[in-house]
Amino acid sequence: MKIYNTLTRQKEEFIPTEPGKAKIYVCGPTVYNLIHIGNARPMVVFDTLRRYLTYKGYEVNYVSNFTDIDDKIIKRSLEEGISAAEVSSKYIRECEKDMEGLNIGAQMQHPLATQVIPEMIDMIKALIDKGFAYESNGTVYYRVRKFKVYGKLSGKNIDDLEAGHRSIKVAGEENKEDQLDFVLWKPKKEGEPAWDSPWGEGRPGWHIECSVMAKKYLGDEIDIHAGGEDLIFPHHENEIAQSEAANGVPFAKYWMHNGFLKINDEKMSKSLGNFLTVRDISSKYDLSVLRFFMLGAHYRNPVNFSDELMESSKNGLDRIKTCMHNLSDIIDRAQGNELKPEESGMIKQVEGLISAFETAMDDDLNTADAIACVFDLVKFINSNTSSDNSPAFLNRLRDVLLKLTDCLGLEIDKTAAEDEEDAAWIEELIEERTMAKKSKDFKRADEIRDELLAKGIVLEDTRDGVRWKRK
Ligand code: AMP
Ligand code: ZN
Repeated sequence: MKIYNTLTRQKEEFIPTEPGKAKIYVCGPTVYNLIHIGNARPMVVFDTLRRYLTYKGYEVNYVSNFTDIDDKIIKRSLEEGISAAEVSSKYIRECEKDMEGLNIGAQMQHPLATQVIPEMIDMIKALIDKGFAYESNGTVYYRVRKFKVYGKLSGKNIDDLEAGHRSIKVAGEENKEDQLDFVLWKPKKEGEPAWDSPWGEGRPGWHIECSVMAKKYLGDEIDIHAGGEDLIFPHHENEIAQSEAANGVPFAKYWMHNGFLKINDEKMSKSLGNFLTVRDISSKYDLSVLRFFMLGAHYRNPVNFSDELMESSKNGLDRIKTCMHNLSDIIDRAQGNELKPEESGMIKQVEGLISAFETAMDDDLNTADAIACVFDLVKFINSNTSSDNSPAFLNRLRDVLLKLTDCLGLEIDKTAAEDEEDAAWIEELIEERTMAKKSKDFKRADEIRDELLAKGIVLEDTRDGVRWKRK
């Protein structure tokens, strides 16, 4: 498989540090709010990378953190009058629900920054001992000029950076040796969460947490480090400076970055206020549609979100699901078992489609082309199957369709018909609840709400009646 490596600015053959294993670290979200669909892009893209490497036989160890201590979380906790830990644990739970809907997360580790404070202190100490960091009035800074290859990931020149910084003086950072130096540890401010350290009470900077979590869960040398392209500088550049100076070995072999999800040609972001949350989408679509939409573009290209594209993604996904559903019906009716001679030739054609799919995925995870191959397979199945075929042939097609779609993280064996059946029993219970409320049987009404909630269905009482959505 070839991967575009931001570090070398070219596509390179993926050769892991340990044969047969792939160690991947992906920067996760800061949990102070519901995640928006831009945040979901790296999650979907790199989960698909994980799936494809697993498909190819690698033993994948995939780690993606939650940043659970940060200025934005503290601000939110002050606004809401609850602790920072309460804010982050609430939004981690919400994020996990979104991830489940997107079919992400079951096979990975999600460490929290606050779980690795002692290890962060150890790495900062090591950096001080080696002369790469220094303390000043309770703040510890990284000495950027000491790391000779600083800028190698982003291609930035250190003197240009210095010139850009000269005019910007940040309050409280007057004691830096150099404007380029960044914070590893900051002293406690009144009312903020803090931990003990050799430099007094305080909390870690953002960059050190990823260096430490990658080291703790994957080791000093990892294969792939990934995240959105906005993280290349300074976050990933600083991670390299910290990890390589502290560990004395190259940090990540391949650096992968996804392009932005945009809306009206502008980056979707919380600060611009132009965002849609994953939860917003889930009230209108099954989240597999959002996943399918994301994979319809190459991960390095920007992608513009629109209602039209979501609709066409829904239609495309339905076409695959319908094919699967029809094929299952045909299998139920087919007789005999032996593969017929003409079917062997057709299996060869299907194998051609599988290799086309793999060629696309091997080319820097080209999911857009891979999806085109899945549609070719759908077309093939629709025009070459009937209950006259042997079950052996039909089952082979079914297995291939399931295997390729599973590689993209799409669950297609749940058919539109089953979705409708689901809706029917939900509607029945809602009706029963409405009747219970009318007859003032609030106990039963609450029971029904809880029963649905346990199954992942949330009810909303609106002026137009009761609406339901999946969590
Ligand atoms: P944050 O919570 O802002 O640290 O972002 C978490 C992850 O989402 C990072 O990998 C970001 O690069 C990524 N991200 C944020 N906004 C977008 C966007 N509009 N499009 C694609 N990726 C994004
Ligand atoms: Zn990170």
